[in-house]
Amino acid sequence: MEKFILFSLVVLFAAASEANVKSGKSTTVALNDGTEIPVLGLGTWLNGSDPTSTQKAVEVAIEAGYRHIDTAAIYGTETHVGKALQAKIKDGTIKREDMYITTKLWNTRHAEDQVVPALRESLKELQLEQVDLYLIHWPVSFNENGTFNDLDYVDTWRGMEEAKKLGLTKSIGISNFNEKQIERLLKSAKVKPVVNQVEVNPNLTQKKLIQFCKEKDIHIVAYTPLGSMPESRAKNPNAPAPKLDDPILSAMGEKYKKNTVQIVLRYLIDRGLIVIPKSSTPTRVRENIDLFDFNLTPVEVEKIDEFNSDFRLVHQTKWKDSSYFPF
Ligand code: NDP
Repeated sequence: MEKFILFSLVVLFAAASEANVKSGKSTTVALNDGTEIPVLGLGTWLNGSDPTSTQKAVEVAIEAGYRHIDTAAIYGTETHVGKALQAKIKDGTIKREDMYITTKLWNTRHAEDQVVPALRESLKELQLEQVDLYLIHWPVSFNENGTFNDLDYVDTWRGMEEAKKLGLTKSIGISNFNEKQIERLLKSAKVKPVVNQVEVNPNLTQKKLIQFCKEKDIHIVAYTPLGSMPESRAKNPNAPAPKLDDPILSAMGEKYKKNTVQIVLRYLIDRGLIVIPKSSTPTRVRENIDLFDFNLTPVEVEKIDEFNSDFRLVHQTKWKDSSYFPF
């Protein structure tokens, strides 16, 4: 009898650790094509800083329980994400299928017949045979020399559908699309986008767009989730509250024994969003996933909503003359 109990405990423990490795620390949500996405991932847009810091950040993230990494062809970080994945697969921390990897099609590759070759290039950098999610990075299309062209994202989408059909990506989605553009895309799409990745943070709550996407069964991935909080962005004289030392967020942090960044990330997750904070600092990478042991109350969520000032950080006004500019 004792032997049987001991054996059962060993089996249970092994099953639990297997589940833990697979789901990591984050919870997941189901997308409209039946796949699941972890609600927290690591962003890897470096905004000019050293791309080699990405490999270390991704390795630390995987050790800390992240199972979702966000990259893009234009970030120059795919190759470093790929090296980190290989290292962590080799040392036995993860299997490929435990990870959710997103990358994105750049604006110079919008011709329908360019999508599959562009994704193949990304897969080579990532050392993968398939990504979990491939996004049209922006609805805007331009040539290598920066001049706009009139390639229509509706045609680009057919290339995305082909990439999915070929098994190069499990799911396909969009990024930086506005309501009208989504409506127009859905009219001709054979496959629905699973997500729209857009800027959402306390300064830009995006209530209307989020509600619209919800009605269409399209999940929102919130990029630049920290808004003006990071030091680099807080020093902009126009940057609105909240900052890292905001008194309202600090009071909530005291209540839950969390810092203000963890409060904001939790706020976004509690609104039903998927978040992809970026950090290359190992302590912050670990802190940013330590938020699955509490929830904010609806009143606290509403309180953070009040910071909204429709202040956009990733505006790309240099593309405003494109007929497909979304903002
Ligand atoms: P974030 O809101 O993730 O902020 C990143 C900044 O916050 C970095 O400077 C980082 O510093 C700092 N930071 C992170 N954690 C903490 C912490 N705990 N305490 C204090 N500071 C912290 O902005 P991003 O613009 O990077 O957005 C996240 C990701 O979204 C991108 O990396 C990218 O993957 C994606 N994205 C997608 C876009 C799209 O068009 N689809 C556009 C923009 C972003 P440090 O690294 O020094 O720790």
